[in-house]
Amino acid sequence: MSNKKNVAVIGYGGMGGWHTRYILDSDVVNLSGIYDISKERCEIAKEKGIHIYPSAEDIYNDKNVDIVLITTPNEFHNPYAIAALSAGKHVISEKPVTMSSKSLSEMIEASKKYNRLFTTHQNRRFDVDYLMMKHIYASGELGDVFGVESRIQGSRGIPGDWRGHKEHGGGMILDWGVHLIDQMLGIIYDKKIKKIYCRCEHITNYEVDDGFKLDLYFENDIAARIEVGTSNFISMPRFYMTGTNGSAIISDWREKAKVVSCKNWAEKDVIPVVTAAGLTKTMAPRDSKTIAEYEIERPESDVHDFYRNFVAAIDGKATQLVTHEQLMRVMKIIEAAFLSDEIGAPVEINDFLTPTKF
Ligand code: NAD
Repeated sequence: MSNKKNVAVIGYGGMGGWHTRYILDSDVVNLSGIYDISKERCEIAKEKGIHIYPSAEDIYNDKNVDIVLITTPNEFHNPYAIAALSAGKHVISEKPVTMSSKSLSEMIEASKKYNRLFTTHQNRRFDVDYLMMKHIYASGELGDVFGVESRIQGSRGIPGDWRGHKEHGGGMILDWGVHLIDQMLGIIYDKKIKKIYCRCEHITNYEVDDGFKLDLYFENDIAARIEVGTSNFISMPRFYMTGTNGSAIISDWREKAKVVSCKNWAEKDVIPVVTAAGLTKTMAPRDSKTIAEYEIERPESDVHDFYRNFVAAIDGKATQLVTHEQLMRVMKIIEAAFLSDEIGAPVEINDFLTPTKF
């Protein structure tokens, strides 16, 4: 007999479709069926041979369902999660887990009260570009890291669906921002944040941010910059990291990380270079006598590990990958970012995390 867990999906849109494909291909979970308020979406699922639940209550009442996966627009994550937890189901919510720390507290309370696991699908913890940057930071090969920059930039504006509206939890901070903040906390795993400064952009949408620039100031003077843009016709590099002994760059998420580390810091007899306005020794490029250049191999990564971890956590064989504390930390950063944008000034935060590698 299979000991796979049964998953029912609420919300069969873009991400609901993605999950069902992965679940159908999974070694640890089965697909019980889906529920969506849209008849059209239900018809599409039916044509693929997927079972349709007439309502969310029918999912809660199905004793065979172990896990409820919520892939609706953001404002429905909280009510569906609490209802499913109270019905005795384990719950995975899509990101952002919800829209405020107060709402997240309610979900965490429900998870404790009904003794069921509750987590969020932070699938971009499996992104290879992120994993390479995490490795470089932790390895110490750049010396003391003092800057990390993470950017995602496109030129098509914010999507025209619910993502453009505040009431649904739209905007790029709650969309890509959640991933990039979570990743940054995974890279700089050993330092607390002291201060945050954020500027939101409204190039194509005035109701919600269609891009933002977020600066996180960590202990030990490490500065992290997270940028999301939807009106950028030329993109800046995906990741850039600077340390006292080298720099690393990932130009594009499909590429390897390039590292330049210093072999001989105090080079004598530097030959000046000519710039437009005159000579400079300070900015003269280094050569192979003083630096080593190499690439980081792209590591193996499998998003199925997210489900594998959650199922192992249900069975008491692992701790859940995305913890409540991590979710709350990201949510507090998001709230501080919105506040900083509103008042036009940096915001001090009381970062509560005990630094742990994840
Ligand atoms: P979408 O608009 O494509 O799909 C949402 C679906 O939910 C639609 O089919 C809609 O009919 C249905 N729906 C709306 N209200 C509902 C309700 N009250 N009850 C049941 N169904 C309802 O949106 P999407 O892109 O699939 O995004 C869904 C969620 O997934 C969002 O939270 C989003 O942030 C998240 N997401 C995550 C990733 C990721 O990489 N982890 C990527 C994309 C989206």
